[in-house]
Amino acid sequence: MGSTQLERVDAEPIRKLLRSVSLNRAKDLDALFDEIDPACELDRGAERNLFQAVLGKPNIIRIGLQCTVRLEAHAHAAGVLFTAFGTPGFQTMDRDERNKLLSPADKILTWAVGLDLQRWLGQMGHDLNPEDVLPGGLSEMPTEIIGALTDNQRLFGRSFFLYASAFILLHELGHLKHGHTQSTHENEKVADRFAAEWMSDAASESGNEEFDRLAAIYGIAVALLWLTVFNFYFGKRESKTHPEGYDRLFQVLDQILDVPESDEYKMVWYFVAQMLFIHMWSAGFDFDPEQDAIHMQGDPRDEVNYYIDRISKWDKKREGQSS
Ligand SMILES: [Zn+2]
Repeated sequence: MGSTQLERVDAEPIRKLLRSVSLNRAKDLDALFDEIDPACELDRGAERNLFQAVLGKPNIIRIGLQCTVRLEAHAHAAGVLFTAFGTPGFQTMDRDERNKLLSPADKILTWAVGLDLQRWLGQMGHDLNPEDVLPGGLSEMPTEIIGALTDNQRLFGRSFFLYASAFILLHELGHLKHGHTQSTHENEKVADRFAAEWMSDAASESGNEEFDRLAAIYGIAVALLWLTVFNFYFGKRESKTHPEGYDRLFQVLDQILDVPESDEYKMVWYFVAQMLFIHMWSAGFDFDPEQDAIHMQGDPRDEVNYYIDRISKWDKKREGQSS
């Protein structure tokens, strides 16, 4: 099970973090914390994705520090990619120029995904190394890479990490609020909806509601893309407790992005489509320049749907090879 080093800490930093992104709901937030009165437990030893709500006296939100670092790395990689997508001429750039913009993200993703892979491969009893699945393997530490980012890339990375964390914490608070005693597909969806609904009218110190809402939706997308990483490499997880990562990603965004004509609809679905493509590419999915190109234009939500359909039909050929 790995070493367990639970450390009970004050939940006030969680309340502070959530308050900073939902200034307009300060009263609701206080009421929620008064009602649930959660304690926080940090687990430094656990390697798995550990965010957990435990109903009891007191109610507990358990957070794994190692997976939080992986989420932070994913958020910074998303920050790099986000700034690259927004670079004028990105769409028509030649491959070398594009790669130059994308390469810092590649390093961070390789590191973060490499750790995720190593853990899963161990769990599933494979003797494959992460570098057999992901070229590059485990090399550099993210601190060095993150230190080399531009201010803009880091700014977006931090924003994504903040809102991704807020979404995950609200998801756990949602479990406690609804009195969930176990994880089921239905309970996970309820907690996702609770968190997404809360975040959809985010308000920070920026004073710009439109901007804050958009930042929050990107953060949610980053959190759920992170939870989808398993699917890129191993296909369906078929967990009894949790819906597939890509299903959560699609359903939550579809709940929030409810106006197809809006800029945010186009921007976020476009971002998610690009992120899915990059992850699938890294994971070894083949893309046919003609066949796949048909799905890569038009409504970006359809494009996301197409990628998710392909991920869900992943044939687990790697598992077959390794036996
Ligand atoms: Zn949950």
